[in-house]
Amino acid sequence: MPRSLPPPNIAREMNANLRNLPSVSDALAQPPVAAMLAAGHPHSIVTGAVRERVAEARAAAARGVPPPSAGDIARAVADAAERSAADWPALVINATGVILHTNLGRAPLSAESVRAAASAAEGYSDLELDLADGRRGDRHAAVAQTLRQLTGAEDAVAVNNNAGAMLLGLAAVAAGREVVVSRGEASEIGGGFRIPDVLAQSGAKLVEVGTVNRTYARDYERAVTDQTAALLVVHRSNFRVLGFTHEPALAEVAAAGAARGVPVLHDLGSGALLDTAQFGIGHEPTPQESLAAGAALVFFSGDKLLGGPQAGIAAGSAELVAALRSHPLARALRADKMTLAALRRTLLHYARGEAITKIPIWRMIAAPLEELDARAMAVAERVGAAASVVDGASRLGGGSLPTDELPTRLVSVDASGAGGASELARRLRAGSPPVAARIEGERVLLDPRAVPPERDAALADAVAAGLAGED
Ligand SMILES: *Cc1c(COP(=O)(O)O)cnc(C)c1O
Repeated sequence: MPRSLPPPNIAREMNANLRNLPSVSDALAQPPVAAMLAAGHPHSIVTGAVRERVAEARAAAARGVPPPSAGDIARAVADAAERSAADWPALVINATGVILHTNLGRAPLSAESVRAAASAAEGYSDLELDLADGRRGDRHAAVAQTLRQLTGAEDAVAVNNNAGAMLLGLAAVAAGREVVVSRGEASEIGGGFRIPDVLAQSGAKLVEVGTVNRTYARDYERAVTDQTAALLVVHRSNFRVLGFTHEPALAEVAAAGAARGVPVLHDLGSGALLDTAQFGIGHEPTPQESLAAGAALVFFSGDKLLGGPQAGIAAGSAELVAALRSHPLARALRADKMTLAALRRTLLHYARGEAITKIPIWRMIAAPLEELDARAMAVAERVGAAASVVDGASRLGGGSLPTDELPTRLVSVDASGAGGASELARRLRAGSPPVAARIEGERVLLDPRAVPPERDAALADAVAAGLAGED
């Protein structure tokens, strides 16, 4: 079949588009690119980037897209060069009101924790050297000491993340044997991380007991055989079961385990070391409570409500922790020096009673409503007439207390003059600094709770720029 030609008027337009295409040498002469060359960017790389853009524009012109100017091409090349030379990941202002936002890197670290990590990274260190006698030291000792003090555990070990801590724990304690789990807890924790799969990977065999909504301590007790290595309790961190439900207290499960001579392992998820109920939200179980109630081993994250770096902690009986440390997987999952340095400093904030003032996530959780209101008002004023302040709710996120909300005050921005809410949100993400915001109908909502107060002005200016059509 002969290909049909475009109607003559469209063909004329396409030819005009191609004729108006800027040349490579035109684009190279434009100030942004000329400045790159003057600053020492290799000529071949800059020319290659310009050629690529011109070729893209030519392909687009053949489809009828009007060509960019030489200046547009030069700016795009310079912007791309700047982005690729900048540090990655880029710092983002989190105005979503979700404190532990997994896509934004979960917990920001305290200034001291950042310094500790940077110092460990900068040079050689006594990570595994005992400076007193010159012998090999233990990379886990400093973190373990503080964890013992904070949780009452006999010993502890930190690995790469909590999924890793669980995998290591189950492999060391239960490979080739059975682990008893309530049907209501054999769940997916997030990102495809499912309890039954972790058990399978560890080499342990899952034995489900109870029903989806009701499980009793006697269900665990009856399921124990001579093949049982442990009872596993998984905190329902990202969902709730409501209505006709029953789950035994951890102490009852521990008593059932003790009666049959098997340890109870407790995956806490967040593992808050402070009582969240003091901030008017629900109570997230703490490692110290869980150990006191009889758990032999608890697992929790470093970068959820602990407010530290990505890490997974296993704490509890000295005998079990020793089994974890000497398991071959411990080497595969071991935490690096920057993580251990930041984690230890974060834990010291708790030991010194300064967690709420020093650890960013606790400062955010504890922020009084009046303070959030004053900050939201100041941001709205700086943004201008499109912004007002309304009531709203912040969330912990990161699979912690999923149904609990912290009352907050939001800057509500009318985006109708800026191409609509998703267009404004796009400009905010693409801006400098990038801003992550919430969209509700035709409005973009900004929650000051997870924004460091010293970034409020930058946030307001980014929004004003977005409203003015810049990104
Ligand atoms: C988040 C979570 C995990 C996984 O922790 P990571 O540190 O993200 O690996 C495991 N169990 C529970 C209950 C969780 O909430």
